[in-house]
Amino acid sequence: MKKIKMINPLVEMDGDEMTRILWGMIKDELLNPFIDLRTEYYDLGLEYRNETNDKVTVESAEAIKKYGVGVKCATITPNADRMKEYDLKEIWKSPNGTIRAILDGTVFRAPITVDSIKPYVRNWEKPITIARHAYGDIYKDVEMKIEGKGKVELVFTPENGEEKRELIHNFTESGVVLGMHNLNKSIESFARSCFNFALDIKQDLWFATKDTISKKYDHTFKDIFNDIYLAEYDEKFKKMGIEYFYTLIDDAVARVIKSEGGMIWACKNYDGDVMSDMVATAFGSLAMMTSVLVSPEGNYEYEAAHGTVQRHYYNHLKGQETSTNSIATIFAWSGALRKRGELDNLKELVNFANKLEEASLQTINEGVMTKDLALISSLENKIIANSSDFIKAIRVRLEKLV
Ligand code: NAP
Ligand code: MG
Repeated sequence: MKKIKMINPLVEMDGDEMTRILWGMIKDELLNPFIDLRTEYYDLGLEYRNETNDKVTVESAEAIKKYGVGVKCATITPNADRMKEYDLKEIWKSPNGTIRAILDGTVFRAPITVDSIKPYVRNWEKPITIARHAYGDIYKDVEMKIEGKGKVELVFTPENGEEKRELIHNFTESGVVLGMHNLNKSIESFARSCFNFALDIKQDLWFATKDTISKKYDHTFKDIFNDIYLAEYDEKFKKMGIEYFYTLIDDAVARVIKSEGGMIWACKNYDGDVMSDMVATAFGSLAMMTSVLVSPEGNYEYEAAHGTVQRHYYNHLKGQETSTNSIATIFAWSGALRKRGELDNLKELVNFANKLEEASLQTINEGVMTKDLALISSLENKIIANSSDFIKAIRVRLEKLV
């Protein structure tokens, strides 16, 4: 069989623990036999991040800017325990945070659905993708406990001009107060990422805030989305037959539950934090959730939504068999290869990405799956495969499809 030749490289970011093991298996079994893989490799494993003082993370993000598409393995975000475990020079920042800050992107999370795993919401027939704004609001707030009586004000002191004041509350007893902010530029980036992604995957975009109550703060979000939509996207959306739909957040929540799915739901930072956990759980499993970071300039980084599956890795190190689900990591690769193929006009690569996904889902539908899925699948005859056999079972089917 002739291997597919690539034109431009993908940025490949290796990672940690169990997902690093899966990464190697996926390349050996599902990619290298079929593609002359061209990647620019960055090792984001914690040891090498430490060795390079985390420079490697910054370089990988710069490389995504250069080549447009990256695929990332899950990585450890260090804490005090990891500092000891890996003898780190510093508690390095979350690689995802660093990459997101450099690309100024929005994260889209979508579940991978299979017939035998039913969402808890009966009428959800298609995946719901959540887009979470990743800047500001309560995640960058300032808070104060107010003890006793006194006046709290909002004060803006312009560099040149007159001071502006707004009374928040005249406290006659103890209480609490918080101040938060956002930036038009960040909201604009968020809006463009969402509109571009909707065009990309040909799905309606929903957005919701509480603009009736928050007449300046939330209303600014609503207005920015609306202005950008009308100026830059209205025609493109109509041509593609998709819709931009704005409503109040409480109305959106009710409508999402009653819907059949199949839309992108853009959320303010806090709404996205909360709703992404609800949607993921309602669809079945974190191990079946993909994640893609899209920058307003149109750079893409694909990964699994889950972490490095530490517990399984420690079992693996003890020589015990693991049954870790590689689906989300496989879909990170297929997503990146498809995007690379689309950008380079390489039909074969797009086709291969589709077949890889098809073979993966077929494997599960035929009853071969990892333990996490066996626990929630409604199929009668299930074979629980270990991490390696599951990937090999996908390979058998992939060979027949390509
Ligand atoms: P995790 O890796 O997502 O795993 C939590 C639990 O979820 C696992 O113990 C396992 O449950 C189940 N699970 C997750 N993915 C699975 C899969 N593919 N197959 C089967 N089961 C799966 O979260 P964590 O253990 O809390 O975090 C481990 C490390 O990952 C941390 O150092 C964290 O910093 C990092 N992390 C990285 C990313 C990222 O790079 N994007 C995201 C989140 C966390 P059972 O044990 O019950 O089998
Ligand atoms: Mg959350």
